[in-house]
Amino acid sequence: MDCRHCGAARTIERLECTELGYRRFRCRECGREFNERAGTPLNRLQYPSDVVCLVMVWRLRYKLSLRDLAEMFLERGFIFTHETVRLWEATLAPHRRNARRGARLVRPVPSVAALGGEP
Ligand SMILES: [Zn+2]
Repeated sequence: MDCRHCGAARTIERLECTELGYRRFRCRECGREFNERAGTPLNRLQYPSDVVCLVMVWRLRYKLSLRDLAEMFLERGFIFTHETVRLWEATLAPHRRNARRGARLVRPVPSVAALGGEP
């Protein structure tokens, strides 16, 4: 994984992971440490990325209320308030819109088989 700080490719993966189980890396060029979520809006959140993304999908796609989402995830063992959901929405929704807008601009990549290679 390239360094999130200087972009160098010379990084080493550390043996220990973050509390949430994300891989940690150390850059051999600048000496700084980072994890898989560094440099993303999900970095430093107390919850796994998949949980936060699922909350955002259900909130934005299915228009579930802030309190309903907090209650639904409480039944699954994740404790957060409706204000947390509101904060995630304010932080992450603009990134989702930008990602969708960028996705429309990307042209489909031809498959390996179409290029004459082995799949
Ligand atoms: Zn670096």
